[in-house]
Amino acid sequence: MSVKKLVEEAKKVIRNSYSPYSRFPVAAVVRTAKGRLYTGVNVENSSYGLTICAERVAVFKAVSEGDRDIEEVLIYTPTEEPTPPCGACRQVIAEFNPRARIIMVARNGKTLVKSLEELLPHTFTGERLLGGEKGGEKGSEGQGHTG
Ligand SMILES: [Zn+2]
Repeated sequence: MSVKKLVEEAKKVIRNSYSPYSRFPVAAVVRTAKGRLYTGVNVENSSYGLTICAERVAVFKAVSEGDRDIEEVLIYTPTEEPTPPCGACRQVIAEFNPRARIIMVARNGKTLVKSLEELLPHTFTGERLLGGEKGGEKGSEGQGHTG
């Protein structure tokens, strides 16, 4: 699926962004392995901490539809430079695919493409909690970590 198609989808929904405080509208489009698209926009709140980013809205929509195989996340902002996802969104995307392709597109079409591994190296994943991850943090035993 072309980046152009994903940008078109993002542009369709960005008007729904609820961003009266930051005045920084964002639209995101998740593409899953099934080829399905899920859009999201940022939704702010007067209690700032409750604000949720467009990327997480799109990811949660996909997951709530039972479609977790996230392959790409496009982030569109009407800015001069592409906007990368915040740390929280990187972690949320990593939960479903630490190697997802992240495509950042600005208003003028300027595009930046990175893998999530590049944006969030040494990712903390559920494998560590489930005991599937061995090594990596050798020698961390006895440092007060409890499981
Ligand atoms: Zn975010």
